Amino acid sequence: MPNADEELRRLKAVLEIPSGQEWEAAVRLLLRLMGEDPTREGLRRTPLRVKRSLQFLTSGYRRDPAKILNRSFAKVKHDEMIIVKDIDFYSLCEHHLLPFFGKCHIAYVPDKKIIGLSKLPRLVDAFAHRLQVQERLTTQVAEALNEHVRPLGAACVIEASHLCMMMRGVEKQNTRAVTSSMLGAFRTSEKTRAEFLTLIRSSLAA
Ligand SMILES: [Zn+2]
Repeated sequence: MPNADEELRRLKAVLEIPSGQEWEAAVRLLLRLMGEDPTREGLRRTPLRVKRSLQFLTSGYRRDPAKILNRSFAKVKHDEMIIVKDIDFYSLCEHHLLPFFGKCHIAYVPDKKIIGLSKLPRLVDAFAHRLQVQERLTTQVAEALNEHVRPLGAACVIEASHLCMMMRGVEKQNTRAVTSSMLGAFRTSEKTRAEFLTLIRSSLAA
């Protein structure tokens, strides 16, 4: 993205931000724009804290899903559905930079190759720790599993609460959004899809 680099250079020049101080300066500017005084006691360390917090919450850009999934396959005869449900996740909506969070349920039907179960929560975090919309997060998890593990089918269902809806007084106070992505056998076989949905039903909100 050459244009993004160019814009960053221009912004830094306009704001006269010294190198290495970009995050802190940007947060101090935001505090000023809110009508706050960034030099008062309670806010003095806030720019540094916000920087660390945002860097952690967007660390997924530096995680490679291929690397998470490509190691340590086990060869098996197993071709029954494998489900990992109730994976807690926290993400930031790209429209408001406010959190959305909830549960992620993942399933796949292996094609003689299985992966360690602990890889799946790490895969979810790799995508959740980016600026996201729930629909894309759901699709990216299912597609990464499909691409790097090559199962007979991969599926992801996410249910989440969005603070941008809850805090800003939009009418949908208590609703949770549910999104799903079904690939391979989960798309072509109604029976496989139904089995998955039945097995996660107890986890989905009543
Ligand atoms: Zn939002």
